[in-house]
Amino acid sequence: GKGAAMVTAVAYRLAAQHQARQKILEPLKLSHEQLLEVKERMRIEMEKGLGKETHAEATVKMLPTYVCSTPDGTEKGDFLALDLGGTNFRVLLVRVRNGMRRGVEMHNKIYSIPVEIMQGTGEELFDHIVHCISDFLEYMGMKGVSLPLGFTFSFPCQQNNLDEGILLKWTKGFKATGCEGEDVVGLLKEAIHRREEFDLDVVAVVNDTVGTMMTCGYEDPYCEVGLIVGTGSNACYMEEMRNVELVEGDEGRMCVNMEWGAFGDSGCLDDIRTEFDVAVDELSLNPGKQRYEKMISGMYLGEIVRNILMDFTKKGLLFRGRISERLKTRGIFETKFLSQIESDCLALLQVRSILQHLGLESTCDDSIIVKEVCTVVARRAAQLCGAGMAAVSLSLSLPCSFSTVLQETVKELSPKCEVTFLQSEDGSGKGAALITAVACRIREAGQR
Ligand code: BGC
Ligand code: MG
Repeated sequence: GKGAAMVTAVAYRLAAQHQARQKILEPLKLSHEQLLEVKERMRIEMEKGLGKETHAEATVKMLPTYVCSTPDGTEKGDFLALDLGGTNFRVLLVRVRNGMRRGVEMHNKIYSIPVEIMQGTGEELFDHIVHCISDFLEYMGMKGVSLPLGFTFSFPCQQNNLDEGILLKWTKGFKATGCEGEDVVGLLKEAIHRREEFDLDVVAVVNDTVGTMMTCGYEDPYCEVGLIVGTGSNACYMEEMRNVELVEGDEGRMCVNMEWGAFGDSGCLDDIRTEFDVAVDELSLNPGKQRYEKMISGMYLGEIVRNILMDFTKKGLLFRGRISERLKTRGIFETKFLSQIESDCLALLQVRSILQHLGLESTCDDSIIVKEVCTVVARRAAQLCGAGMAAVSLSLSLPCSFSTVLQETVKELSPKCEVTFLQSEDGSGKGAALITAVACRIREAGQR
């Protein structure tokens, strides 16, 4: 009778809503063919970046790092390292002991960089950094000792030497004025002089990917790729010198900082970018830039999710069609919530309590939907990252975790290259110290 008809109507409406949501999510689900395409396009962009004639207009810059040798275990000494550009700013003291592998002892302190400083003037930023170094030296009881310093600076830099890095452009949450086009070592030294308190011997400017690779390389000499999927995303790898056309010489290999986050800035990913990616990009600090990074890394995934949830809600497909002020707030979905919600073993009740914690009232059905959205967005990120790694793997001369999806994708897209993933512990900071240690060893050998 009438009751049965109503049940049918409700079931019909729910099925239609489910279909509508699936249709919206469809463009975020990438096929094998699409991923192969991404890999091929990455190859093309990599070649442009490496080539002398094409480098200027290339988006994936493939920057020479002047890191050619990995630690050989004979390095020793005390080194300072700075780590700027991830979630936190850190100052580290790294003691490297001679002879034995794994003989690395670390002390470090984390400092926050307020947004006003990240987006203020360059002088304020570097004065703040030097202030933190001063605090750290005091804390370690090392005021007055001058140590060699490695500077992990996780932004695209043009290097003509190991100890120089011209900032090409800020990325992620940084936007301090007067830094782009400048040598960041120079900016650091000027700030040190302004303070007139201590001196430092800056030996190396290091990208975090390179630091990460070196840290694993200290334990496993076959490690020749560094991958960061954090606030931002990027990779580096050891490339044959003859392919590094920007640097004279054909012998040996050099680590290349790909700056793959900028992949897609030429428009070559436009067919797979969704309206949600476009929306996130447009409201970011650097619209039109780092498009691949914005589909992969932690600073943006939560925003993609939020944009999808808003679209669902506007169309009456979620949260009973009511858009709360909370949902309209940028940045509410931090990556940690995203990965919690997305994790397989998390019960729906816990998803609901996370949502509640974020100020979003949800029904049980809502929480299922939110969880699915998080899964789709995170899976696409890992697959895109895997497609990039598959492209890199073709450049490795030796057979050599974000997640299993990343590894599966690499395997699926480049089945002949055997890639093993290692977690680099405390990689970016420790690596800068190791690179500094290697440079000091080579410098001392040269003086003898
Ligand atoms: C920067 C890279 C860095 C990556 C990961 C990107 O935004 O351009 O230099 O390696 O973030 O921190
Ligand atoms: Mg060359």
